[in-house]
Amino acid sequence: MPTFPTLDDAPLDGRRVFVRVDLNVPIKDGVIRDDTRIRAALPTLRELQGRGCTLVLATHLGRPKGPPAAGDDSARLGPVAARLAELLGREVRYLATDGPGTAEQQAFVAAAPAGSVTLLENTRFDPRETKNDPELARVFAGYADAYVNDAFGSAHRAHASTEGVASLLPSAAGRLMERELSVLGTLLEAPERPFVVVLGGAKVSDKIAVIERLLEVADALIVGGAMAFTFIKAQGGTVGDSLVEDDRLELARALLAQAEARGVPLVLPADAVCAARIVPGLETSIHPSGAIPEGLMGLDAGPQAIADFRDALAGAATVLWNGPLGVFEVPPFDTGTVAIAEAIAASGAMSVVGGGDSVAALKKAGLAERVGHVSTGGGASLEFLEGKTLPGVAVLGHVPWH
Ligand code: ADP
Ligand code: MG
Repeated sequence: MPTFPTLDDAPLDGRRVFVRVDLNVPIKDGVIRDDTRIRAALPTLRELQGRGCTLVLATHLGRPKGPPAAGDDSARLGPVAARLAELLGREVRYLATDGPGTAEQQAFVAAAPAGSVTLLENTRFDPRETKNDPELARVFAGYADAYVNDAFGSAHRAHASTEGVASLLPSAAGRLMERELSVLGTLLEAPERPFVVVLGGAKVSDKIAVIERLLEVADALIVGGAMAFTFIKAQGGTVGDSLVEDDRLELARALLAQAEARGVPLVLPADAVCAARIVPGLETSIHPSGAIPEGLMGLDAGPQAIADFRDALAGAATVLWNGPLGVFEVPPFDTGTVAIAEAIAASGAMSVVGGGDSVAALKKAGLAERVGHVSTGGGASLEFLEGKTLPGVAVLGHVPWH
């Protein structure tokens, strides 16, 4: 488990604190579609407010490559500031600027009264952010005398607001960051057993490193989604027009051998719901996953596969799920994903769900409240589970408190 200072270790009372949060929420036509990430930031913000801190908050929103074009407010943080103010029940100072480090922004931060909350404009309006530019990091460090990182979802990136600034100020992890690292760290180091991992999604290549690492700790591995077809073809199956990574067949064979050598059952879907195209309402048929006719694609787990997956999950004490088991965006190909989400929610296991699309599927099924931990970081949780060091975490605690 990485070691890092938390709010318990940090003498933050009464200080000006730069808090990196992850408020990168989906916004359409100025309306926030899902405020989960804003809510997830509240415990840390409330705690720091209660400790008399003056808060300067930073987040990115979307992927702008520089300042917004005139009249384009789509990546501005106005709606986020308004929603945060509602949830916190207090004013959130916000100024629409061309970037988080502009002269205007600096003057606005300098005028922040003690105890106030200020939200900086979108960090990605400044192209120096993603380059981890030391100059921008120094501007950020000038905004406060301590740094708290609660943006787990951005911790795998070394940017000025996640890494650079933390090398200049005394720092600590926020409560969300702390919980993410502790829950995911426990999966890798001391999971309650049996520990069953469910992996799905589009590509084996995205998840090789995580499969390798999890084979070392899991008691069983369920592999579904498009990814399964690369394994099934590697075993000699016929997969029709299903999504396959032909350049990963060798690797799939090696992973199957590795699972066998470790005695970890690797459960693949016995059958698949197939169709000629990904269109709602099109005729579907069920075939063994290793005997899919030409012209058809496996788009969801079939009934036998779902039953096998349920069996493999029965009795698990810990479950990790990452990656949908079918094209859940297009019904009826969401059946397998929803069935497994329900099985996980109904199990008594400590369940952890990570991955952007998996979390979206879980919410769509209305089950997000019923699992133990929903990770707020897609890429970050995968990198952590691969065993990689997250730069936004590694840097915490480097500058001594003074
Ligand atoms: P996550 O974001 O949870 O990590 P991924 O991004 O790895 O998940 O994969 C999600 C994508 O995988 C979804 O868009 C889904 O439609 C796709 N997918 C799952 N199963 C299949 C399949 N059998 N054929 C094609 N695409 C699939
Ligand atoms: Mg995804």
